[in-house]
Amino acid sequence: MVLKEDSCIFCKILNNKLPHHKVWEDDHFLAFLDINPINPGHTLVIPKKHIDYIFDLQDKRYTEIFEAIKKIAEPVRKVMNSKRIGVAIEGFAVPHIHIHLVPINKENELDPHRATKAKEEDLVKIAEKIRRMF
Ligand code: 5GP
Ligand code: ZN
Repeated sequence: MVLKEDSCIFCKILNNKLPHHKVWEDDHFLAFLDINPINPGHTLVIPKKHIDYIFDLQDKRYTEIFEAIKKIAEPVRKVMNSKRIGVAIEGFAVPHIHIHLVPINKENELDPHRATKAKEEDLVKIAEKIRRMF
């Protein structure tokens, strides 16, 4: 595993140097709650290897991360009781690939300007409920 501990907060999360609310993981990917959710249940899915840009992933991992988000989306949607899960990839703030999975109920909800800091106790409860779905 290639980690960039000094400069990358998501590598710190992967190495358990920063607290986070895990919802799912396998050998190659980790899913955890965003601390500034656009809507409650907003989940980030990251590869365990530090790579900045999604289209730099080798083909196999690229396919696998999309298979992973498919696995995670429905449990998140069910727990949050949302109509859909919106998917976004930007990555300007953190240079470690992350796919946003955001519970949404209507047009234009998938807007990063709507993000607000979550309460710790809410993150704990939501992560627990999602983990139980697997
Ligand atoms: P970007 O704009 O790079 O696509 O999104 C970065 C995301 O990472 C933002 O939604 C932001 O709230 C989230 N984020 C930044 N720092 C942390 C952190 O320490 N923990 C968690 N769980 N999420 C973070
Ligand atoms: Zn990293």
